[in-house]
Formats: sequence, C-alpha cells, structure tokens
Amino acid sequence: METEMIGLYKTQKGDGFLELRTAKIPKPVANEVLVEIKAAGICGTDIHIMHDQFPYWPPVILGHEYSGVIVETGKEVENYKVNDRVIGEPHTRACGKCALCRSGNIQLCSQKRSPGWGIDGAFAKYLTVPEHLLHKIPDSMTFEEAALIEPTANAVQDVLERGQVVANDTVVVIGPGPIGLLSIGAAKAGGAGKVIAIGTSVDEAFRLPVALEMGADNILLADKQDAVSEVMRLTDDRGADLVVEASGSMQGIQSAVKMVKRLGRISQIGLTGKGNIDFPWDAAAWKVCTIIFNLSTAFSCWNRSIGLVASKKIDVSKLISHKYPLSEWKKAFEVVEKAEGLKVLLIP
Ligand SMILES: [Zn+2]
Ligand SMILES: [Zn+2]
Repeated sequence: METEMIGLYKTQKGDGFLELRTAKIPKPVANEVLVEIKAAGICGTDIHIMHDQFPYWPPVILGHEYSGVIVETGKEVENYKVNDRVIGEPHTRACGKCALCRSGNIQLCSQKRSPGWGIDGAFAKYLTVPEHLLHKIPDSMTFEEAALIEPTANAVQDVLERGQVVANDTVVVIGPGPIGLLSIGAAKAGGAGKVIAIGTSVDEAFRLPVALEMGADNILLADKQDAVSEVMRLTDDRGADLVVEASGSMQGIQSAVKMVKRLGRISQIGLTGKGNIDFPWDAAAWKVCTIIFNLSTAFSCWNRSIGLVASKKIDVSKLISHKYPLSEWKKAFEVVEKAEGLKVLLIP
C-alpha cells in the first residue's frame, strides 16, 4: 500500500491559505479504522474556515461530511471489518467523562475536535475514525448519498427530534439552502401535512425547484410578496405549527415570529454572524411560542437519517449538483460560494 496521500489543507490562520499538500497516510490506533474516502461534501462551514470565520487548528485537512470503505482495522476493533461501507459521526476526542458525554451528548462536549477543523478531515484519500463513531450504510445507498447523511442528520434532529413534527403539522421552512431543503424532506418524512418553503428571487433558478422535489407544497418569494400574510392565508389565519429558520437573516428571524401559531415552535438552524440582533421579544411572548436552538448531531438522528435516506423518504440525490476530483477543489469551492449549486462533492 502507498504511504502518502494528497490532502486539502488550511495551512495557517487568516483569509484563504487553502492548498493541496502531501501528507502521510494516517495509521489507525487500536480502537480506530482506516477509511478510504469515496465522497466528501463541501459544507458552509468549510467556506467559513477558508475565510477565518470558524474555529480551526491549522495546518489541518478540511472536510467533515464523508463516506467510504474500511481498508484497515485497529486490533481492538470488534464490530467492523475491512470492506465495510461506512460513515462516521464527527465527534472525535469528546472526553467521555463530562456531564454532557456521560448523558449521551458527546456532540456537545467542549473537548470535541472534529475532523475537518479540529483534526485532519476527509478532503483526502484516507481518514482514521474511532470505531464508536461509525455507522454502516446499506448496500443500496451510494457513497454520494451517504456523504449527505451528516447534513441530513442535522435537519432530522432540528426538525423532527427537537422540532417535534407530528402528523399533519404545517411546517414553514425559511431559507432553501442544503439544510433548508433537507428540512423540507425531513418534515414530510415525519408526517407534516403542508410544507411551505420561503426563499427569494435568487433561489428561483436551482433551489426552489428542488424544494418542490423535496416535498414542499407551496413556494413563497420573500422579496416579491408578503410571505407572512401568505402563510396566514395558507393556514386559515392560524399560523404554522413549526417554523424552521434556516436563513439566518433578520427578515427571516423576525417573520418566523409573525408566522408561527400561538403555542407553536420555531426551530433555529441559520446563524446571523452577528453579536446581537433586533428580535421581536414581545411579539414572541404574545405567540407563547417555543424557540429551539440547535447544534451538531446526536446519535439518534444518524440512525434515523440512514433509514430515511435508504428508503428514499428523504431523497438526498436531488441535492447533489456537482462532483469534482480533489484536484479541482478551487472550482468546487467557487460553485459553493457563489451558490451556483446545492451540494458539491469532492471525490478524493
Ligand atoms: Zn457540515
Ligand atoms: Zn465530554
């Protein structure tokens, strides 16, 4: 077997500083497996790291949304073997001792260092992953689809597990980026009745047509119509049971409060990038609504997402717009940054 590979590194702090470099192929320790990466998705987080807007420890190989096949196992690995097709949760180096870890919430451990920013990630041919973070994927699932389980797990957690969709709920999804689109699929898979997707005219070309394919019943353009009164009209003036805020925009956040029904739920996905925002506190009190904040992905939503994607209840293949070899990473990052595509995959 070869001993070196090419990885896409963030080489130092600052804006930019991405380059392909040669790296040693990592060696799995006793409780780890070596995964040959078959597909890895570019995420908004990767763009933030490129621009120095997210914590990271350089020099580090980027990439945290991946799938692959096991090519080597450490001597303590029990439940996985060579040739198993796998994905992995990114909760590496969670301590296992703190209150969050011991209560099953390793994804929120302060010691966690995920592949792709805390330790070397998946924009390379090989990655070592601890056995306890692995999930097998069914033979029917392509590696490309499996690379989308991580973002799907976010949507499933934020919409179904924490957002608590129940049968026939009306769900509004604000912001049709990849996670917003997966949220539409998750809401439908969870039994939502009507799903209303809200974007703007710039989303008309690629994103809103996919919103319909993911199961949206209605599409609204927030810059061309009064989205709040349209939601009220579509819900017979009741408001939505759940509003998923996946835009991070001020207009989106403020309108979420106006669209949600009394005693309804707002589930946060988007971030504003600001320290403080102008929020309609009293209006939210008047709505008696629950606002749910979300971060990372718990174990339960990975299993749930694998099943939903395998059964095509969430058809992630509709989101895969581009595939590039690792050598063409620049073009791939450009497509993501200019929002010219949806999910862009690198094939190392
Ligand atoms: Zn991501
Ligand atoms: Zn911990």
